[in-house]
Amino acid sequence: MKIGQYLHDFGSLFFPELCPGCGKALIHQEKCICTDCLYKLPYTNFHQDPENLLAKQLWGLARVEAATAYLHFSKESKVQRIIHQLKYGHAPQLGEWLGERFGSQLALTAPYHAADLIIPVPLHPAKLRIRGYNQALYIAKGLSKKMGIPVIDGHLIRHSNNKSQTRKNRYERYENSKDIFSVRRPQILAHRRLLLVDDVVTTGATAEACLRELLKIEGTSVMLVTLAHGH
Ligand SMILES: [Zn+2]
Repeated sequence: MKIGQYLHDFGSLFFPELCPGCGKALIHQEKCICTDCLYKLPYTNFHQDPENLLAKQLWGLARVEAATAYLHFSKESKVQRIIHQLKYGHAPQLGEWLGERFGSQLALTAPYHAADLIIPVPLHPAKLRIRGYNQALYIAKGLSKKMGIPVIDGHLIRHSNNKSQTRKNRYERYENSKDIFSVRRPQILAHRRLLLVDDVVTTGATAEACLRELLKIEGTSVMLVTLAHGH
């Protein structure tokens, strides 16, 4: 046994890294998620089916070239615990690692492999300050590593909505709480096939808002890749 491995295992006795799926301590050849959870995760394989559930859901909302999710999301599941750890557990590396795993598959799958740029859905600036990282950016980095497609961050902007909610009725509050996106320097994204990346898509409202902005740019098409899809 190498001394580094010995120290790693020794350290693990005191600070074991836990699998976010099941809570068991990871053993030394395991990284991020245990072998048992990895085997049991509900993979969608949506990328192999152009008419998958997520793509169909988005067709009603925005003109998306293709859409896929790595995992099915449901409440009280391993996937929910993994996403929670990714977002709130100071574990951006978990997103990058899962992004790499999915990226290895998408690198071999049309039309995803033919994208020009990867764009993470930005976090609300106030949330970014609190959390310290944008989990979608780390998923994007993992995808990028395996797909050989660059990540471009900071062009799709998510705005704070600072208008007071107190004097509005319920519908106005709902309208006001919608995310507002815009694009900075759209000429950089023009005539490109974009791969938009998010952590979880449920209603599709956020993805729709991003898609609408990106599709205003001349000559763009957009594919959506999300880590999890709940419905
Ligand atoms: Zn596990």
